Amino acid sequence: MLIVMHHHATPEQVDQVIAAVKVMGLTAEPIPGSLRTAIGVLGNQGYVDDSTIRTLPGVRETIHVSKPYKMASRDFHPEASIIDVAGVKFGDGEKPVMIAGPCSIESEQQMMDAAEQVKAGGGQMLRGGAFKPRTGPHSFQGLGIEGLKYLQQAGKAYGLPVVTEVMRIEQLDPICKYADMLQIGARNMQNFDLLKEVGKTKHPVLLKRGMSATIEEFLAAAEYILSEGNGNVVLCERGIRTFETATRNTLDLSVVPLVRELSHLPIVVDPSHATGKRMLVPVMTKAALVAGAHGIMMEVHPNPAQALCDGAQSLAGGDFAELMQEIERLLEFLQS
Ligand code: PEP
Ligand code: MN
Repeated sequence: MLIVMHHHATPEQVDQVIAAVKVMGLTAEPIPGSLRTAIGVLGNQGYVDDSTIRTLPGVRETIHVSKPYKMASRDFHPEASIIDVAGVKFGDGEKPVMIAGPCSIESEQQMMDAAEQVKAGGGQMLRGGAFKPRTGPHSFQGLGIEGLKYLQQAGKAYGLPVVTEVMRIEQLDPICKYADMLQIGARNMQNFDLLKEVGKTKHPVLLKRGMSATIEEFLAAAEYILSEGNGNVVLCERGIRTFETATRNTLDLSVVPLVRELSHLPIVVDPSHATGKRMLVPVMTKAALVAGAHGIMMEVHPNPAQALCDGAQSLAGGDFAELMQEIERLLEFLQS
């Protein structure tokens, strides 16, 4: 439930409402706004009886929010959030953030070469998986902690904050030590225990949409992280499973403007996993930016033909640099 105060309500009246919410055994989250204050009510399992609250001085109206996500919604948080990852900012009014790097960390040299190419092309963040969620157990599973060290080293050498995937709660401590941002992969979007533990850290999180998750489920997954006290969540559309087999997944671009309306959290797009095809990555990157994405995460590898994972959807460094020049021109046009 959302309690909307009159614009002339006094701070004492706001405090009185907060106290009344607490007496009901619920949590009150004041949401100050430029025109009036609202108070979000959290912790209820079902309908909240608002008969007492509505009679309190200063209360204008109560709005019942039946969505499974509240803290992630615009109702509770009308202003767009800016998420800061070691100085790189995601959100409205910020330049879209380009995150690039290989699918998997393969060696110290590969990560250094990738970081050099990402930096040279104008990317702002470096990606690389150390713990890989592979479809089959015989595929390369990642270098683990050793890989995290290479990622951190390459990021520091080129001044690029780094993001990497966490698959299990036990990996959280080392990953928080080596990485600036935690990635929750599509397969773990509804691993609620993992989401809760990630929510207990203050580390920025890149939450990827599950391959068969609805927008409501996607935002409800973000709610798990937010409700544990970590508001630093960036959403990532990475394609969904449909009947189509010509592409690896089906990129659902309409999710970008929809999420921007429903939620205050930034949203980025991953055209690499969404399409599975290198040829489609540049054009879908541009389409995502036109749709309003706050950033892009794409796979870039120093030698895609030799990649241990996802080479077919990875750009070579030169292709990335070329695409980044086209993006600069597109962003200028979009701002004009
Ligand atoms: C990845 O980004 O490395 C990855 C495994 O992506 P997804 O979870 O979207 O499949
Ligand atoms: Mn990949």
